[in-house]
Amino acid sequence: MAPVGDDAFQIRASIGGSAATLVSPDVATCDDCLSELRDPTDRRFGFAFTNCTNCGPRYTIVTTIPYDRPNTTMASFEMCAACTAEYEDPTDRRFHAQPVCCPACGPRLDGTIESIATALLAGEIVAVKGLGGYHLAVLASSEPAVARLRARKHREDKPFAVMAADIGSVDRLCVLEPAATRALTSHPRPIVLLPLRSEAAVATSVAPHLGRLGVMLPYTPLHHTLLAAVGEPIVLTSGNVSDEPIAYRDDDARHRLGPLADRTLSHDRPIHIRVDDSVVQVVDGAAYPMRRSRGYAPAPINLPSPSRVPLLACGAELKSTIALARGRRVFVSHHLGDLKNWEAYAAFCEAVEHVGRLFEIEPEVVAHDLHPDYLSTSFALELAERRGLATVGVQHHHAHVASCLVDNGVEGPVIGVAFDGTGYGTDGTSWGGEVLVADLLGFERVGWLAPVAQPGGDAAADQPWRMAAAYLDVLGEADAAPAALRGGVRWDEVVAMARSGVGSPLTSSAGRLFDAVAAIVGVRSVVNYEGQAAIELEALVDPAECGAYPMAVDGPLLRGADLVAGAMADHRAEVPVGTIAARFHHGLAAGTAAMCRRIRSSSGLATVALSGGVFANVVLLRAVTALLEVDGFTVLRHHQVPCNDGGISLGQAAIAAARTRASRI
Ligand SMILES: [Zn+2]
Ligand SMILES: [Zn+2]
Repeated sequence: MAPVGDDAFQIRASIGGSAATLVSPDVATCDDCLSELRDPTDRRFGFAFTNCTNCGPRYTIVTTIPYDRPNTTMASFEMCAACTAEYEDPTDRRFHAQPVCCPACGPRLDGTIESIATALLAGEIVAVKGLGGYHLAVLASSEPAVARLRARKHREDKPFAVMAADIGSVDRLCVLEPAATRALTSHPRPIVLLPLRSEAAVATSVAPHLGRLGVMLPYTPLHHTLLAAVGEPIVLTSGNVSDEPIAYRDDDARHRLGPLADRTLSHDRPIHIRVDDSVVQVVDGAAYPMRRSRGYAPAPINLPSPSRVPLLACGAELKSTIALARGRRVFVSHHLGDLKNWEAYAAFCEAVEHVGRLFEIEPEVVAHDLHPDYLSTSFALELAERRGLATVGVQHHHAHVASCLVDNGVEGPVIGVAFDGTGYGTDGTSWGGEVLVADLLGFERVGWLAPVAQPGGDAAADQPWRMAAAYLDVLGEADAAPAALRGGVRWDEVVAMARSGVGSPLTSSAGRLFDAVAAIVGVRSVVNYEGQAAIELEALVDPAECGAYPMAVDGPLLRGADLVAGAMADHRAEVPVGTIAARFHHGLAAGTAAMCRRIRSSSGLATVALSGGVFANVVLLRAVTALLEVDGFTVLRHHQVPCNDGGISLGQAAIAAARTRASRI
């Protein structure tokens, strides 16, 4: 700008949102605020809502832009004179901190931290209103308390996360490496999945059958104070029953959590947007996202090339997120959950409006999955119809690979390996063990797991023994299946079903292959949460075992049944399950690498992108990466969005942007 002759520095009232305005994710309590919180002489001593310009609630309290106090859920709290002075002083840490407040003028707890801590120590279940919603808390060391929480939540085995006061107490629970400490203490304060110490004082039922624990550090003054008062780690799990979204409105929480909790610690600062805790794993010294939500959303992710038009991507169905894009920036929403749940679907509709309003994006193009039965697909088509917008249908696994490309700032083409539970294929069948040659514009399906029957369709995803029946039938061994597998289920009927094809759609799913092996070796015949059989099989892998079952690459087909045959033979020979699990993982990795070599020889491509929910499996991820790198490939993995369906909206947005650029819609 040309000089305008001003002689003072001032911050003027916002005159409205500009397209460049960003809304920050929520930020964990900073060290300065933490010292005030613990300083008996400070006016914010023990104050559960302490924050400053460097930390505090953001995304969860913003109702609209510009990001000014009247447009947050702090609007009803009038700043006292002392807070106003800080707010207006350019030399103060709280200069223009919108949520600034103190015990005199800020939100209030509706109980005392001390009484809640006492209740927790006595084994009670407490509903705690946090930053993005209500949690249910119990003492992590108390088996009866955790068991009671499981019974009330109707949550059989799905692991609970634990909050520990500081790195020292995490270290007593889990094996820490420097990258894990970095992830735990990073601004978003995600839940980090860590190897559990065998001697850790954690009830077995916190994370049964896993050998690892999801741990997070306190991220609000309320949590810091509560953990200090309790003096030991607590389970802190979403406030909901079973798979519902987390409760965040006070009346709803009273209604839904009343029967689950013995008491409640609430406060009067409303939560505008429900945001779940984020989850990461630590892989090869870096955070590997599993759920991108609190602390990360709605920070933008950059496309390698800008979009010509503003667009909306509606994502998948499970682990739903939506994305809005303008120019180079894609705003991927917080985690919305399973859209078949009414509450999650309502949150999805709300997010489309809210994120669009916050970033002033009026989409002209709507991207969606090809699955005709996804609620996100019908939403996209109806919205486009109503507003006269163009639509872009995106194949599920293409979206996975595209999300991995964007995550790495590249456009392809690459060899894309997309392994997951299921996604709608262009031939109308269920895909899930896909090898594509893909860029952001299009893809060619060049390899896939040899399709097998999925007897009972969706029922097979909950009952891994059905996939065992289908695979063993392919091998002609259904009648010789272990008695433990056949007992108590309609084995012969399901084998006949698979063989006839009745009610048994074909699938190339990698997730279902894991299910088959997990069932055969006796790990799990029936699951009670998504992916459980595969997750437990991975947990059993014997790290000392280097063997691998052979897996044929037969033209474009990866012979998954070969791995099942290997596992079955070893199981019959009473080889330990950890050995079988390792050989299975290594075999699949070797088959995948062989397929990539085959495609390199015909296409010349030497970069492989790994995506799809199955790559949440770190044993497989590392094994495939290692084999490919030895073979001279460049391997792209996820860094910013999850490999699972939480990343689909980003992939759809990137593909829609590329196609509109190329005028292919
Ligand atoms: Zn602060
Ligand atoms: Zn005040």
